[in-house]
Amino acid sequence: MTTTPTGSDATSAALSDDLLDPIEPAAYFMAAQPGGPERVLAQHTRREDGRCSACSVHALVSWPCGLASIAQRAQTITTERRKVRQSRQTLRTHGL
Ligand SMILES: [Zn+2]
Repeated sequence: MTTTPTGSDATSAALSDDLLDPIEPAAYFMAAQPGGPERVLAQHTRREDGRCSACSVHALVSWPCGLASIAQRAQTITTERRKVRQSRQTLRTHGL
């Protein structure tokens, strides 16, 4: 007896798109480190020639490099979380 592949592969691929993106989980990890994104972005700055100042020591890497991209995403995650926390506090303060 043989099994024929169904269309479920395409569906599960679409659902796990976020998890397959290597930036997203790494950004959440970095967002959990206090000051992590800021430390990375302080080192991985854009040079005048558009390369990353830290990574281009080893090879010419365009900025934002992988680490800088992750750090920028981590900062966005932190900002979004802070906004959610503040709006929750506002609701609590006003007894809503
Ligand atoms: Zn870099």
